[in-house]
Amino acid sequence: MAFDLDGLVRDNVRRMVPYSSARGEFGGTARVYLDANENSFASPAVGEYSRYPDPRQNELKRRFAEVTRVDPNQIFVGNGSDEAIDLLIRIFCRPGIDNIIVCPPTYGMYEVAAELNDVSIRRVPLTPDFQLNVDALRDIVDEKTKLIFVCSPNNPTGNVIDRESILGIARWFDGMVIIDEAYIHFAGVASLTCELRQFPNLVVLQTFSKAWGMAGLRVGLAIAQTAVIDLFDKVKPPYNVSQPAQHLVLKALKLEKRVGETVSQIVNERERLRSLMADLSIVRKVYPSDANFLLVKVTTAKAIYKFLIDNGVVVRDRSNVEQCEECLRITVGTPSENRILIETLRRYEKSVVY
Ligand code: PMP
Repeated sequence: MAFDLDGLVRDNVRRMVPYSSARGEFGGTARVYLDANENSFASPAVGEYSRYPDPRQNELKRRFAEVTRVDPNQIFVGNGSDEAIDLLIRIFCRPGIDNIIVCPPTYGMYEVAAELNDVSIRRVPLTPDFQLNVDALRDIVDEKTKLIFVCSPNNPTGNVIDRESILGIARWFDGMVIIDEAYIHFAGVASLTCELRQFPNLVVLQTFSKAWGMAGLRVGLAIAQTAVIDLFDKVKPPYNVSQPAQHLVLKALKLEKRVGETVSQIVNERERLRSLMADLSIVRKVYPSDANFLLVKVTTAKAIYKFLIDNGVVVRDRSNVEQCEECLRITVGTPSENRILIETLRRYEKSVVY
């Protein structure tokens, strides 16, 4: 069956009239703005933020489009990529009827957003080498499967998912394939954005929270063919990205070259940390990572996690996650943060008698 975007969208979304914001309708430059019930006297503390932000984030999109070599109309900007995940489910999945597929162990928000929207979840676990089980995916898809979420590099396993398997799925699946590339900049592989022309059912998620170093601003992106982005624009809250966030992301985009420097630092540090961790006797395995974190199998995850917490070091305990038994997920820190981590782990090592 051929891909039919219109048929895939929820009826209510297709029919609805989007909210039209004052600034969105006008879109030009005026002498006096009395259209949006802002405080015309402004805040005595932060006067520059008295106006609503650009609801279309045009400047930001224009600049990001240059960086990614896509069209500005192919970009949705959200309050973190978490907003894009939620909107995708709300655009395509009928509550109580449709389903999505996730491939655990993976990022938890796909399931949270589905549950919140009363959309059922089908799980197709990754293979033991953390790749897609393509045959199982094909078997489990039915006519109510609207979205397949693939995270690459995957959180928490850290590895890139084979590009051809993803594109293979996008070829036969009539729903949307969502590729979450939150960690792509650390991977040294090309983004799937260059495949968007061929694949009307592909949505690539990226974020300013990782390589760009701006998690506090909450800015994430969905990149897809224009018809898909039009749907995001239809359902999104009008002013979903704040003025300071737009302003600061634009500033960072102007210094785009510097991102590469930070990424190399993190990647170097990741590899250094990897070998230091591998030398510890409490570490059973450090999984190879294409991201800015390491998945580490240890002797006793819960005890080590607690010891680290008691000593002021917080990592992520993933030991309850299937295929991540006895695993901790550790973000690559600065050299001094990593030194504290390793010193604390060495102290733990000394304290246990085997
Ligand atoms: N996708 C993945 C795979 C993530 O790990 C995260 C955050 N940890 C996100 C998306 C959310 O990113 P954002 O900060 O853009 O909401």
